[in-house]
Amino acid sequence: MTLAIDGGTPVRTAGWPAWPPPATAEQRRLLLEVLDGGEWGATSGTKVGAFARAFAASMGARHGVCVVNGTVGLFLALRALGVGRDDEVIVPAYTFVASATAVVLAGARPVLADVTPDTLHLDPSAVERVIGPRTRAVMPVHLAGAPADTEALGDLCRAHGLASVEDAAQAHGASRHGRPAGTLGDAACFSFQSSKAMTAGEGGIIVTDDDRVHERAWSLHNVGRRLSGGWYEHPELGWNLRMTEFQAAVLLPQLGLLDGQIAARERAVAFLAGELEAFDGLDLLPAPEGTTRSTHHLGLLRYDSAAFGGRTKAEFIAAMAAEGVPLDAGYRSLSREAALLPYTEPVPCPVAEAAEDAVVWLRQHLLMADDEALCDIVTAAAKVRRAFRGP
Ligand SMILES: *Cc1c(COP(=O)(O)O)cnc(C)c1O
Repeated sequence: MTLAIDGGTPVRTAGWPAWPPPATAEQRRLLLEVLDGGEWGATSGTKVGAFARAFAASMGARHGVCVVNGTVGLFLALRALGVGRDDEVIVPAYTFVASATAVVLAGARPVLADVTPDTLHLDPSAVERVIGPRTRAVMPVHLAGAPADTEALGDLCRAHGLASVEDAAQAHGASRHGRPAGTLGDAACFSFQSSKAMTAGEGGIIVTDDDRVHERAWSLHNVGRRLSGGWYEHPELGWNLRMTEFQAAVLLPQLGLLDGQIAARERAVAFLAGELEAFDGLDLLPAPEGTTRSTHHLGLLRYDSAAFGGRTKAEFIAAMAAEGVPLDAGYRSLSREAALLPYTEPVPCPVAEAAEDAVVWLRQHLLMADDEALCDIVTAAAKVRRAFRGP
């Protein structure tokens, strides 16, 4: 069978579920309520505060502070925990670049630690190796929506007096040993950017149980004001990084949709895992042991080029795209991100670097497709493999 990339008929011509899903009646109602009510900003409106409380409560956390995006949420959480100039924050090498740039924003230095080969999550033993006299915090990233090993990392933090900031940008609704992501460190940040499991196009939230961290984060995101202070009282330096009421209106109803959406992805991933069990050359990476709920924000697949006639991951992705299956090449290892080099010591991260050549992603909207569509992924991969292997 001729590959679609060579002019053949694609396996799939039907599309994929859209992300974000179509707006609900409740989202329209709340959005219009804000628009017509005239209270568009969080300083006078009530929806941002209501959403922050509801989101934090959904994970049993005490406080939430809504901000303009996840990156600045991480920056503010670090600052609220006292991270600043000359401090070092340990970040995994396989993550979105914002995990590291947030550290730079806070004035500190990101120090990269490699990830574990099986799950690509931050490796506690790699963290231990890079802890030094300037280390102030560790940032466990809940990659693909499964929490990092926060017990092992928490033990290290306690032993060395370090703070822990969860990068939960992909982990709305996740849990580890039954404990929700967002409550597994000193503070956590979630993102509401377009691709995330809850979204308002942009947005983010800092979640914490710590009153002091909450007060500081709130102040820093609101021009240095105090919770009970005056409008022109700025006892410390802060910025306007507030979310708008429009974003909260779009987000509030999603709290009630999240569980159903995660269940749909759980089902799809289980189905796909079954279909791929006997498939030579593509393996779904497992969530870290101890994961009680992954949001399946991404499906991580290991591509074995040897099983595909030695053809590269890029060739595979291009061939799959032509067959109607849009895969994603995923992250480059942060150890190879030239823009970060002035801010971080170059540490070799062989596992993250190998993942660059071997790991492909299924984004969450593919994992919300029906069985027929999921079968098309496997059918297309089998077709590409046959053609790559040659006669
Ligand atoms: C999306 C994301 C961020 C940044 O969030 P923004 O809202 O886009 O600023 C940080 N870390 C990870 C792992 C992410 O996926």
